Amino acid sequence: MDRKITVFKGDGIGPEITDAVLEILNAAGAGLKYEIYRVGNQEYLDNGALIPDAAFASFERTKVLLKSPITTPVGKGFRSLNVTLREKYDLYANIRPARSNSAVKTPFTDVDIVVFRENTEDLYVGKEERIDEDTVWATKIITRKASERIIRDAFAYAVAHGRRTVTCVHKANILKMSDGMFLDIFHQISAEYPQIAANDRIVDNVCMQLVMNPGQFDVMVMPNLYGDIVSDLTSGLIGGLGLLPSSNLGSEYAMFEAVHGSAPDIAGKGIANPTALLWSACMMLEYLGKDSCAARIRKAVDEVLADAAVTTPDIHGHGNTESYKNAVIAHLV
Ligand code: ATP
Repeated sequence: MDRKITVFKGDGIGPEITDAVLEILNAAGAGLKYEIYRVGNQEYLDNGALIPDAAFASFERTKVLLKSPITTPVGKGFRSLNVTLREKYDLYANIRPARSNSAVKTPFTDVDIVVFRENTEDLYVGKEERIDEDTVWATKIITRKASERIIRDAFAYAVAHGRRTVTCVHKANILKMSDGMFLDIFHQISAEYPQIAANDRIVDNVCMQLVMNPGQFDVMVMPNLYGDIVSDLTSGLIGGLGLLPSSNLGSEYAMFEAVHGSAPDIAGKGIANPTALLWSACMMLEYLGKDSCAARIRKAVDEVLADAAVTTPDIHGHGNTESYKNAVIAHLV
């Protein structure tokens, strides 16, 4: 029987890339049934809520969400929808794999990095306080519970996927208590995994090292803000945001999304690259135990990425979303 999943079609390029990805999933015989909801700015303007109650209810039933980018309206009173979803469903582990693809030319050929970003705390708790007219404080929260579970997940992933090293990224030389605790917990947990090498790097150094010699990194684990920044950097190493997928996992719920935003600058032009959302869908298929279907799609994508005539302009292709999607489907069939 088909597995039901929830799909959120967001804003900007969201609907275009979602349609392309669902067509590819169907062509691959993924065995999924979709409960599709429009979410985001237009939904808010029409019906008064960024995410309708029925969409939340669907995710609570299916427990698995494929989510396209959503624009959070700028201004007071709107919290980032991504942050809201992560908090509401305790999607504490944000996993962002970046791997070089021989078809996409960049200065690097040996990038194969998986970033584990803590997803629920750090500066993203959104606690800001105006002290006086010229002073604002922002609160950074690090807890033992959240740090332990993301660090443990990173090591468990390394073991399960035959990885060699886990690197902890921090700024414990300055933030001695908060990042200091994260680092202490990392070293405590690393002792439980003697088969995996463990090391740590300060975040500014890690940015320089990533650009000089990314091949030295394997699995990386870090608090929320560093994870956001470092994973955008790793996407640049492999050819840009259009190629970086992610999963957001909790103990009960799972959400899969491209790392990029809604790209309003290219929305409606038919040139958005659906690969990041498609690879996120592959991570979803693997999560659902549909590994062979994910592998077929990944193979088709690798073949298509090598053909600049059909790929999208962000990766120097001469095609568009439609030509790319059709080529992937042709390779699947
Ligand atoms: P957010 O803050 O919501 O993450 P952002 O400000 O980082 O968004 P994006 O929407 O991710 O910005 O876009 C950054 C740049 O990358 C834009 O120029 C956009 O056109 C490009 N881009 C992002 N995603 C894609 C994609 N799937 N295909 C092609 N170009 C993309």
